[in-house]
Order: sequence, then C-alpha cells, then structure tokens
Amino acid sequence: MKLVVVGASGRMGQALIRIISQTDGAVLHGAVSRPGSSALGKDAGELAGVGQLGVPVTDDALAAFVHADGVIDFTRPETSVEFAALAAQARIVHIIGTTGCSATDEAKFEAASRHARLVKSGNMSLGVNLLSVLVAQAAKALEASGWDIEVLEMHHKHKVDAPSGTALLLGEAAAQGRGIDLNDKAAKVRDGHTGPREQGSIGFATMRGGSVIGEHSVLFAGEGELVTLSHSAGDRSIFARGAVKAALWARDKKPGLYSMLDVLGLSS
Ligand code: NAP
Repeated sequence: MKLVVVGASGRMGQALIRIISQTDGAVLHGAVSRPGSSALGKDAGELAGVGQLGVPVTDDALAAFVHADGVIDFTRPETSVEFAALAAQARIVHIIGTTGCSATDEAKFEAASRHARLVKSGNMSLGVNLLSVLVAQAAKALEASGWDIEVLEMHHKHKVDAPSGTALLLGEAAAQGRGIDLNDKAAKVRDGHTGPREQGSIGFATMRGGSVIGEHSVLFAGEGELVTLSHSAGDRSIFARGAVKAALWARDKKPGLYSMLDVLGLSS
C-alpha cells in the first residue's frame, strides 16, 4: 500500500516514516511538510534516521496524493481538515491522529467520509483502545454505587491541546458506560471556590512537562476505595504502528468514518 506521511518532520511524522519502512505491505510513497519548512527537498528516510528511501519531502500535497493509496496525518486540526478534502478528492484512505479538533472540524471529517475511508482516533495504540473498553465496563458496573470518575493525564511540554485526545477518548468511554453525554457532564477546569463535586460529572486533570510521551489514568473513586485503570506510552512507535495498521485495514472498506476500535475488532 503506497502511503503518504503529512507533517513529515514532526515527532509523529518521523515515527511514521520509520514504521512504514519496517512494515510488510506498506511503502512510503510521499512525505509532505508545510511550505517554507527546512525539510523540503531532503530525503524522508534520511530525515527519520532510516537511510535513503528515495522520497524527497515536498509541500505539494495534492501531487503526493494523486497516485497514493492512503495518507497518514498527525498534524494540526486546520491542516487535517484541508487534507481530508484533498484525500476525499483523490479517493484515498485518510488516517487522522490529530487531536484538539472542534465540532466544526469533526463535521467536515464526517462530510469527507461520504466519499473517503477515514479512520480517526485520539489514540492509535492497542493498549489505550483496550483500556477504553475496560473503562466503559467499569463505569457501567460502578454506576449504581455512584462512584466518581476522574481522568488524569500528563504529556510533554510541547503539547498544544488539553485535555489530550486520549483523555477525551477515555472520558467518552466512561460516559458511554454510564449512558450519558460527555459534553453535559465533563468538568475540564477547576479553579478557586468550586463548591462540592457535581454528582455524576466526569473530571479531567492535565499536567504538562519534560518529554513525557503520554500517561493516562482513569480513577473510579468510591467510599473508602479507589480503582485506577492506567496506560503508559513508552515510545511513539505504538501510535505509528496502529496508524499503519489502520491504513492497511481501511484499504478495502467502504467509504465511512471509522475508529481504532473498528480496526482492532473491539467495537461493540
Ligand atoms: P509536531 O511534532 O508538532 O508535528 C506536527 C507536524 O505537522 C509539524 O511537523 C508541522 O510542521 C506539521 N504541519 C503543520 N501544518 C502543516 C501543513 N499545512 N502541511 C504539512 N505539515 C504541517 O506534533 P506531534 O507530537 O507529532 O503531534 C501531532 C498531532 O498528533 C497532535 O495533534 C498530537 O496530539 C497528535 N497525536 C496523536 C496520537 C494518536 O495516537 N492519535 C499520538 C501522538 C500524537 P511545522 O513543524 O513546520 O509546524
């Protein structure tokens, strides 16, 4: 499968180039960076530390998409929206790992998925997707006794959105287990005299610092006991491997908007 990596000089872009070069059935067809990037014209493989791949980094996304089978996109919300339109035009698979997308962005992805096969997830790792299934089960099982749910996350100091896409994915899983809408029940910020915790809310706490790749815990707090379900990301390759797996999976699917739970066979 001929794959294009957009955001080729980013942290995830580099991990994706490395994983594609090691994956049977996948080949790096194109590498796209933004206009003016110092990476333009350089060999994508050299840039990612895997040796020459014969793919120079370009800023011409449409030309890169034309003869490709799929694009993997861990960039920024406004950029992913643009790439979704181009990928739909080229009728190729679009894997979106970008987080921090608004409801308007999501509506645009939904529209693009009428013609294209999109897989989008706030976390592409097997471990976090399995964790989300367990979180939904625990939220449901502990509902009657009124346990409180809090999602705690920590990431590196360069991360620009909060709470993380993964924290929101886990919050969604908890809300789904409880049969509630996360938008109505999320407490994303607490500051000053907040009053007591709102019964049934799902709280989020965000920490940023150093080079932490991604730490997530979902805490279920009952009277006199605490259950913690957690995931630690030790390496960005877990997300890259999941994204490449998603591209290979989506290749023969019908147009639509899919999640990693679909890819991993974990959707209920
Ligand atoms: P990063 O290092 O900042 O990489 C983003 C890359 O996108 C940068 O190289 C940036 O280029 C590039 N870019 C921005 N606009 C572009 C455009 N118009 N054309 C081409 N390239 C463009 O960030 P990261 O750590 O790799 O994370 C990227 C995204 O993936 C974030 O939203 C992050 O939260 C998400 N993420 C998701 C998962 C998951 O499993 N779903 C896992 C990890 C990260 P410049 O440097 O020139 O601006």
